[in-house]
Formats: sequence, structure tokens, C-alpha cells
Amino acid sequence: MQIFLTYDYELFFGEPTGTVEKSIIEPTNLLLEIAKRTGIKLIFFIDVGYLKKLEQFKNLFPKVKHEHDLVTHQIKMLVSEGHDCQLHIHPHWEDSVHNGINWEMNVSRYKLVDFSDEEIVKIVLEYQTLLNNLTQKPVTIYRAGGWCLQPFSRIKIAFEKAGLKLDSSVFPGGKFTEGNYFYDFTTTPKKSIWKFEDDLCVEKSNGKFVEYPISSYKYSSFFFWRLFLLGRLKPKQHKPIGDGYPMSSPGQRKKMLTSGMLLSASCDGYFVTKLNAVLKRNQKFGYNEMVVLGHPKACTYFALKKLEQFILANKNNHQFLTFSELALN
Ligand SMILES: [Zn+2]
Repeated sequence: MQIFLTYDYELFFGEPTGTVEKSIIEPTNLLLEIAKRTGIKLIFFIDVGYLKKLEQFKNLFPKVKHEHDLVTHQIKMLVSEGHDCQLHIHPHWEDSVHNGINWEMNVSRYKLVDFSDEEIVKIVLEYQTLLNNLTQKPVTIYRAGGWCLQPFSRIKIAFEKAGLKLDSSVFPGGKFTEGNYFYDFTTTPKKSIWKFEDDLCVEKSNGKFVEYPISSYKYSSFFFWRLFLLGRLKPKQHKPIGDGYPMSSPGQRKKMLTSGMLLSASCDGYFVTKLNAVLKRNQKFGYNEMVVLGHPKACTYFALKKLEQFILANKNNHQFLTFSELALN
């Protein structure tokens, strides 16, 4: 199995957004230590809208200048240590500002498709250039903010213009169309990799783009009860290191606790305990790829310890890779 450990490198988008130290820098440094000890490389999907706003506000407020320097320094370090830094777009940064004390998030245009066709192309190209200037590495790999990349037909031209080749936003079976979200992955190919052209979820053998879907897993309601209870009972081990709050996702919590939910395979918090089950499931399906989604902001000390155990237990029988290590045509 080729295993890809991916981390979306970003603040929280609720109130508060969390501090850069606790929600990004500190947990990412802990991940880097694990990567060093185990000899593997990670993939970071960098929230480039955040970089744009750091650049825009750094000369207005010393606080933002400090935040900017921490983040850009860390991203350069990630690259120098051989980790993959690729494009992650949360376009609501276009409408968000810093007031000298906090980030003021305006998430009313949360998805790329909430913008006009011209704006979509402009945002993708601008963000790609920004990241490329910082990393000095090719940026050809994409993860949509909040899994929202549909209808892809409206975004395809931006992918073509930017030369993006690989997407890793889909998690097969997932669907959520409430609040600011819209994604529907209920009709994907039953595969761990496929080519596509106009629709993310429809395989096209000669398609220009390749999808490496995030593996998915059906978590039981019992799992979510344990997750929520452990956060209360043993906060030191089970509370995220990040100190912000997520944007609301209406109805999700209730559904989790009553009927369980199909979600991404994840190394966030207690989700890490299911990585072995996801690996077994992918093997059972005959898959050769397993993509795991994580966030530095959602790392817990428990998750970091378990992640390291998972890597050590599997690195001799499986390959931990970055997307940039793949030869993409
Ligand atoms: Zn994100």
C-alpha cells in the first residue's frame, strides 16, 4: 500500500480562529519530530489565502508581522526537510480581514464556486504563484477547502491554466450540503485512484486530472460518544492542541451521536485509532493507495503518540510517500 499522510495547514475558521502558535506552529513542529524519528515525509496542504492576508496586513500590524514570519519560516523549513507543500484554497479569505487584534472571518463565500468564473481563475493562479514563490517548488497538487470542489466543471479551466494535475479532495461516500458546505461524493468509482475531466466523481480513462481520494470510513455513534467523552474526561491527552473553534456544520454533531457517520480517514485526535481498520479495509478492497487527512490544529497528544506507533508498525510493509514523489504524466 502507498500511504499518504496529508495535513491541511490552517487556522480555525470559527470564533476564535485560534493563535498561530497553538493551532499551527507547535503541532506542526511535533509532526516534524515524528517524521524525523520515523524517517517518513508528510504532505502539507497550505491554506494560501491565509498567506495572502498575512502579506497584506503584516505592515499594518506588528502582531500580523510576527505571525507572518512564523508561518513563512516554518513552511520554508517543511520544504527544506523534504515535505511536500501543496495548494489548499479557502477562498473566504478574500472577504476576511485582520483588525489589529483578531482575524475577522467572513465565511459567506466559503466555496470557490461562490465566486464568478473570472474570480475563480484569478484566485487559483494568484494563490499558486504565492505558494510557488515561497517554496520554490512546483505546485501541481490540490486539496479543496472544506471538500468543496463541485461542480468541478466551473473550476476545470482554472486547473488547466494553473497546470494542476492531481486532486485529493474527494472522500467516497461523503455528502454534506448544509450551511456553507456543498459536496456530494456518493457516486464515485469504487477505486483508490482514478482519472477525471469535467466531474470529480466520474472516471475518464483519458482525463487530464487524477484523483487520489481521501480514504473514507464509517465511524459508529459509539465511536463519537467515546471521542466526545474522552475530550471531557482526559483533556490533556484528548483535547486538540489548537486553541480555536471550527466553523459551524449544522446538524452534524447530532447525526454523529445518533447514527454514526461516514467521514474521511483521519489522523486527527481520536480518529487516529481507526487507521489500522482503514488500512485493512483498503487491503480488502484491493486498493494500492490510502490517503489520510489531518490538521495540525486538530492534533492531540494522544493522536501524535498513536500516529507514530502506526507509522512504525507499518513502514516496513508499506510505503509512506508524498504526492510529489509520484511520477505524474
Ligand atoms: Zn482546510
